[in-house]
Amino acid sequence: MTAVPQVRDFAVNAVQQQFRIIGAGPTGALLALGLAQQGFSVVLCDRLSADLLVSRSRAYAITHSSRRLLQDLGLWADLKDQMEAFRSLRLDDCSNHCTAWFHIRDLRLANRTAEAIGWILDHRPLMSLLLERLEASDLVALQLDDATPAEEALANAGSGRWIVAADGPSSMLRRWAEVPFWSHAYQQGCLTVKLRLTGADQHCAYELFRPEGPMAVLPLGQDRYQVVWSAPMMRCRDRTASSPPELLSALNAILPDGVNAVQLLDEPGAFPLELSLAPRLHRGSLLLVGEAGHRCHPVGGQGLNLCWRDVTDLLNLTAAVQRGEMAPPSLPRRYSRRRRMDLVGVLLSTDLLIRFFSNHNPLLMPFRRLALFLLKRIGWIRRFSLSAMTDGPGSLLKPLPK
Ligand SMILES: Cc1cc2nc3c(=O)[nH]c(=O)nc-3n(C[C@H](O)[C@H](O)[C@H](O)COP(=O)(O)OP(=O)(O)OC[C@H]3O[C@@H](n4cnc5c(N)ncnc54)[C@H](O)[C@@H]3O)c2cc1C
Repeated sequence: MTAVPQVRDFAVNAVQQQFRIIGAGPTGALLALGLAQQGFSVVLCDRLSADLLVSRSRAYAITHSSRRLLQDLGLWADLKDQMEAFRSLRLDDCSNHCTAWFHIRDLRLANRTAEAIGWILDHRPLMSLLLERLEASDLVALQLDDATPAEEALANAGSGRWIVAADGPSSMLRRWAEVPFWSHAYQQGCLTVKLRLTGADQHCAYELFRPEGPMAVLPLGQDRYQVVWSAPMMRCRDRTASSPPELLSALNAILPDGVNAVQLLDEPGAFPLELSLAPRLHRGSLLLVGEAGHRCHPVGGQGLNLCWRDVTDLLNLTAAVQRGEMAPPSLPRRYSRRRRMDLVGVLLSTDLLIRFFSNHNPLLMPFRRLALFLLKRIGWIRRFSLSAMTDGPGSLLKPLPK
């Protein structure tokens, strides 16, 4: 194990503190910006160049918890025109032919004038804006295209410097520091592809529960959509290797009636899925954020929102350190503790959804029909479920968010 600097090495004077963040993905980059806005100096490293960081073909479902963070960091106004709002969410249990809908009125927000249930944001405009803001900040040193091994970053950390592992699911920092980590590989993988659809509602996101796994269809504007299609990993690979007409006809066989896939817009990709969690998101002065510390099934589009709630909670704590309300050495423990309930809640609920819906088990069918029936008929069950998807299951115990 690489020696991790201890928190007792930290000066009590917060202004002198520095953060070294390894990984400039959407989580590391957003955290770097937030810390710089609080007056911390930040070194942000990634082994990829700026061009490669921006060029990932992926779209994220953004919930209200992420909207608030983007607003707080002054990014929302610049991103809003680049996002596609969805005002309804259609949920289908395909084995039972049952459908339930969520609408804006089902949101549980203090501000009842919400304009969308969520938004779909493409990776490119998000990362372009983040890198532009980071480059403009005097407090951020960007070290991109940097092949320095993460182990060296840890060894050279020095005292008075926080190290943040934002280096994604296979985090080297987490491994080298031997942070306890639990992981379970799903048999399901997922295929992602952007395509054109006819007959779909432009302002609706679809979640189709199918026996092989759930499929999300997310609007990207006009007739463009992103599909996140979960199925056994081998089947995902076979589908990505099939010709575009074959893939389109496989999609058309399962899309809702009247919705047709007419053209692929990028190369389909197949990815393994896992459920993983570091029960404690720290070791010494090393903090884990985003997928370096946890990962869940993409059902319900929770992934990035959960990562960004790490950022929100960590920034609330660093603000308290900056104001002198919290001693720096208690930061890691408080951060791990604050994140626990949300992480366990989301990981458990996404896993339960998969187990409940990804099968043909006749014993479960009546319960699934009942669940969809209750969702359709009872408003508070819809509000409860949507609130858990929007702000995490723990939000139900908190005051209404703005
Ligand atoms: C196929 C797929 C589809 C997805 N779809 C959605 C979706 O629709 N909605 C959603 O919300 N989420 C989705 N997700 C999840 C989402 O992509 C992740 O939640 C998000 O990317 C996590 O961000 P991150 O910054 O924590 O990690 P990453 O995005 O993985 O970033 C980690 C960064 O660390 C860098 N790095 C790694 N190792 C090192 C090192 N040793 N030294 C320096 N740098 C290093 C990498 O280059 C990378 O830039 C999807 C994920 C997958 C795989």
